[in-house]
Amino acid sequence: MSDTIKTDVLIIGAGPVGLFAVFELGLLDIKAHLVDILDKVGGQCAELYPEKPIYDIPAVPFITGHGLTEALMAQIKPFNPTFHLGEMVTKLEKIGEPLFRITTDRGKVFEAKVVVIGAGGGSFQPKRPPIAGIEPYEGKSVYYAVRKMDAFRDKRLLIVGGGDSALDWTLNLQPIAKRLTLVHRRDDFRGAPASVNKMRELVASGAMDLKIGQVSLLEGGVGQLTAATIKANDGATTRIEVEAMLPFFGLTMKLGPVADWGLALEDELIPVETAAFETNVPGLFAIGDINTYPGKLKLILSGFHEGALMAQKAHRYIYPEKKLVFQYTTSSTSLQKKLGVA
Ligand SMILES: Cc1cc2nc3c(=O)[nH]c(=O)nc-3n(C[C@H](O)[C@H](O)[C@H](O)COP(=O)(O)OP(=O)(O)OC[C@H]3O[C@@H](n4cnc5c(N)ncnc54)[C@H](O)[C@@H]3O)c2cc1C
Repeated sequence: MSDTIKTDVLIIGAGPVGLFAVFELGLLDIKAHLVDILDKVGGQCAELYPEKPIYDIPAVPFITGHGLTEALMAQIKPFNPTFHLGEMVTKLEKIGEPLFRITTDRGKVFEAKVVVIGAGGGSFQPKRPPIAGIEPYEGKSVYYAVRKMDAFRDKRLLIVGGGDSALDWTLNLQPIAKRLTLVHRRDDFRGAPASVNKMRELVASGAMDLKIGQVSLLEGGVGQLTAATIKANDGATTRIEVEAMLPFFGLTMKLGPVADWGLALEDELIPVETAAFETNVPGLFAIGDINTYPGKLKLILSGFHEGALMAQKAHRYIYPEKKLVFQYTTSSTSLQKKLGVA
């Protein structure tokens, strides 16, 4: 197990609301680490609708999900938050008054005086492909994410799917794999046209294989894949040797481990009060889509407001001896110094 990482605040979820919370905390000299199961920041905006326009961010008439994420990252840059991406918070324990121990599925352990749950609709989890007998191979030779590219060096690799993830990883891993085969059920790809073209060039030059059909059978032993059979749409089958498989069938949102943290959930949401969006555990806050209170609207702007009030109360736990003076960014030189503009 790694050394414990100590931080003022640990934010679970790097969606838009978790990101903006970094800004509000930063103005009050509070440092934050963020953990997100996705390999990128931005939550639903980045994963579900990066190209779609959002029209109801105050004073921003139009911005895409991706644009909003980029803008938030620029806004919080002065506060230099630390991101732990591709990791899921699995355990949350109260160990002091207030002090929490937080553990991820990769064995990272944090200690924080304040925890902010910004877990949105829950954790994004990969959809399992409909291949019989896949379970014993999962995590051993079938992976739903690439954590270390080098793990696939010199391997016979099978990538399944037709979206951006399947294509991006095909292009990234093809140079280091021993042999790479991409399987998709149709000869029509949803991914970016530039990636589709590059993939087709690699196939034409003989650098990789493309099979149209579905994986119908896996062979191997003790979690280690040795071969896969691909069934074409006309019923013809091809058996290929493989050592690792990466299926990319999209993501689904599940509440996930939040359900195991001893909170009295209401309809899979965390009840909070509305002065600081704190749960019934002092020092444990829930902001954004994951919380519930009378009148709650699941909108980004609501989550931003919740983050601002949360930060005021968090200050009391982090700096119990300091009095908080209300200040505007427009006129406070002290805030402007923190933002690097004065
Ligand atoms: C198609 C679509 C269009 C939308 N349009 C609008 C709009 O126009 N205006 C608007 O205001 N809202 C819109 N929304 C809603 C908006 O996206 C959400 O309100 C917003 O994303 C909530 O932000 P959040 O940070 O609370 O949660 P999320 O964006 O859901 O982010 C939560 C993050 O927490 C992570 N997470 C969860 N559990 C864990 C865990 N255990 N460990 C680590 N990480 C975890 C997740 O991976 C996720 O990245 C739209 C939503 C959709 C799907």
